Amino acid sequence: MTAMGTWLAVGFAAVAFFSTLAGGFAALRWPGRVQALAALAGGVVLGAAFFDLLPDAIGRAAEINLSAQIPVGASLIGFLGFYTLERFLHHHHEEGEAPDRAGLIGASGFVVHSVFDGLAIGLGFRIDSTLGFLVAAAVIGHDFSDGLNTVSYMVTHRQPAGRSRSLLLADALAPILGALFASLVPVPDTVFPIAIGFFSGLFIYAASSTLLPRARELAPVTGLPLTIGGAAAMFLITRLA
Ligand SMILES: [Zn+2]
Repeated sequence: MTAMGTWLAVGFAAVAFFSTLAGGFAALRWPGRVQALAALAGGVVLGAAFFDLLPDAIGRAAEINLSAQIPVGASLIGFLGFYTLERFLHHHHEEGEAPDRAGLIGASGFVVHSVFDGLAIGLGFRIDSTLGFLVAAAVIGHDFSDGLNTVSYMVTHRQPAGRSRSLLLADALAPILGALFASLVPVPDTVFPIAIGFFSGLFIYAASSTLLPRARELAPVTGLPLTIGGAAAMFLITRLA
């Protein structure tokens, strides 16, 4: 990978850093504003996954004579993998475990997710800068929600504010580490279609499990145009890019 690609990947991951922080602070300051952003981001992230990542993964699989079932299956594995992670990390609360520990374990799940966001950016830029930009847009577009989730999760579990801020910082730094790792570690060609398929599943999961449920708090006439418009905008961008 070129040095330029590494810089772009890490640069965009750094923008994701601020997006995560902004989401965390917004959760504390203006809890009412975030639904509209979530509605828009839900469409953008789904658009990136379905109009760009999945077709790209299938195209790359075909080039090396892999069946389309492999990248599409990897997408489902990504989706179910993050669903499983969330079920395991976030079920403690209901089972009466000490709120303290449940908050920390749950919030660390968001950090794991954010490392994968960074890996996706790094891998995207290894393939080409167009894919890198689109992945970065999908990550930056929803990372405010990652920050927001981390903070609201910590707050609901009655964690001290200082610890919420540390976890938010870890969540914001995670994409940078992921992007650096994916930029610097050698990746064989067969990994790309599988990894891109997997990341599309991660994005579809993030959109359907956190962004769109939050957007449901808006009236349909406000929320739906934002979501559908976000997906349509990603379609146009993939056509023009
Ligand atoms: Zn994320």
